[in-house]
Amino acid sequence: MPHRARTIETQIRAYDGASLIEAATLIRAGEPVAVPTETVYGLAADATKETAVARIYAAKGRPSFNPLIVHVADLEMARRLVAFSSAAETLARAFWPGALTMVLPRLPDCPVAELASAGLPTLAVRLPSHPAMRSLIAAAGVPLAAPSANASGGISPTRASHVLASLGGRIPFILDAGPTSDGVESTIVRPDAAAITLLRPGPITPAMIEAAIGLPVVDPRQAEGITAPGQLESHYAPSKPLTLNADVPVEGRFHIGFGPGPCQRNLSATGDLVEAAANLFATLHEADASSFSGITVAPIPERDIGIAINDRLRRAAA
Ligand code: AMP
Ligand code: MG
Repeated sequence: MPHRARTIETQIRAYDGASLIEAATLIRAGEPVAVPTETVYGLAADATKETAVARIYAAKGRPSFNPLIVHVADLEMARRLVAFSSAAETLARAFWPGALTMVLPRLPDCPVAELASAGLPTLAVRLPSHPAMRSLIAAAGVPLAAPSANASGGISPTRASHVLASLGGRIPFILDAGPTSDGVESTIVRPDAAAITLLRPGPITPAMIEAAIGLPVVDPRQAEGITAPGQLESHYAPSKPLTLNADVPVEGRFHIGFGPGPCQRNLSATGDLVEAAANLFATLHEADASSFSGITVAPIPERDIGIAINDRLRRAAA
């Protein structure tokens, strides 16, 4: 049985100048805050802090770390995170601010937590049009990672009351700015030089994209050979052999610890699962780049956010 997260008081406040400042203060303290965008309500946290991003997964109870969309207040903020190709520039001019998310290469000095992109070299970015979300990003002064503000497996919330029903007691604050207008998640694309790949359909349609850029929109779900949705997902995997549930270090292997005990790097010496999630991808990258020939990982408890850590480790070991 997964443990329920400790119950906290969830404040629900109408969007105005004072509630915006409270929300931004919580964001700067590393807490997740529910906030509307034009698509659905998002559960937003400081994208540059690994622990803040880990708290999003912990609050949602997600059994795996999917990469999240990182929201920016303006194009300049986006340019500090990812590399813009000319196709990406064209799409940004045509559809931002709005319900289009682009998956682009992270810059070498991208300040976004690796957990937000689940260890991938790319990052999903969006400049939303909703004034509450844009004001919150600007007031916090950092890009915000935000998946939909519902518990894992639930449907996406389009009203503050939906968020309260799903995440009440698990998050500190909901900024209520009424119902969202689009009601479905943003369109996600990967812009390449010759074509635009549709990763998730949404309010911005392939016809709208083709008209704006003059390139074909390719839907990989309609390509042959794809039988399961999971085949479209890419996952970070180290290049070295990875052994899970290793109780003790093995000679010649980079041992990733959890809790007390000898190791090359500890995910959390105190056995804190949120801290372990926050350190996971940076530690895997470090182990992969080391001179050791393989990687071992201590057992991680299969509860709370440990379930997502183990899911990601099993995929990386497969
Ligand atoms: P959500 O944040 O719940 O709206 O979902 C984010 C969606 O964006 C998921 O479907 C992810 O698979 C997708 N996504 C985010 N980052 C990337 C990435 N770097 N590469 C491919 N897909 C991504
Ligand atoms: Mg969702």
